[in-house]
Amino acid sequence: MAVEIPALHIDDQERADQWAGWSYYRRYYVHDSVEEYAACDLLLAGLAEPDREGELRAEVDRGNLCAFVRLIGILVDDHRLDDLRELARDGDGRAFVTLMQLLVRREAEAQLRQESVEFPWATSWLAALLVRQGRVDAALEVLDSLRQHPDYEHGAHSRILSVLREADRVDELRRLADSGDRGAGKQLNWWLFDHHDVNGLRRRAADGDDLALRCLARLLGEPGDSVAAASALQELADCGHPRARKLLERFRSDAPG
Ligand SMILES: [Zn+2]
Repeated sequence: MAVEIPALHIDDQERADQWAGWSYYRRYYVHDSVEEYAACDLLLAGLAEPDREGELRAEVDRGNLCAFVRLIGILVDDHRLDDLRELARDGDGRAFVTLMQLLVRREAEAQLRQESVEFPWATSWLAALLVRQGRVDAALEVLDSLRQHPDYEHGAHSRILSVLREADRVDELRRLADSGDRGAGKQLNWWLFDHHDVNGLRRRAADGDDLALRCLARLLGEPGDSVAAASALQELADCGHPRARKLLERFRSDAPG
């Protein structure tokens, strides 16, 4: 069973409760003009008739992205979970993600647990559902079991860190970061950034964490805080922090006036 693992967008601060937005419905940059999209819609509207699904699937097999979107739309609207699973089994990661999103939307916890027997990564979607329901400990527990699986160790660990951040479990992140977990340090920095914790970021930056420094500069660089930003960077630069000096130079050249 070779199912493509979907990208998790861990770094773009996407929250687990937003995972359930449909991701299959993407037709950006397929065609060059509105007219071409309209012509394509017309063609696909014909192929969407139930007796022409074979032709629609043939279009999908030829790599027609719009036909894929239409087919998945039909499968979703008609709740054809078996057909989505069949596509996922054949290695279509988009169908797998759609199946997962559908189950998360329906809060189909038992079904997600069932899917995870065949598709271990379904566990991460189960965790997303549990987080949405406020059951953070349960989410961490299933992710921890996924982490025991050699193929998903890294992905599961990353999800655990994201969940800790989303759930404001900062002490745990800090403990992991202090023990040398770089991913935990990263999530901690973003948490501090999200919560405008200038002092927390400054302490980590002073300890030599470059991402903390960049977060700090960005935070302080927000309108109204330019004096504080410059002085915080200056302080770090004076302590011999090489990146602080560079950021300070850039900050000054960007500053108005
Ligand atoms: Zn098209």
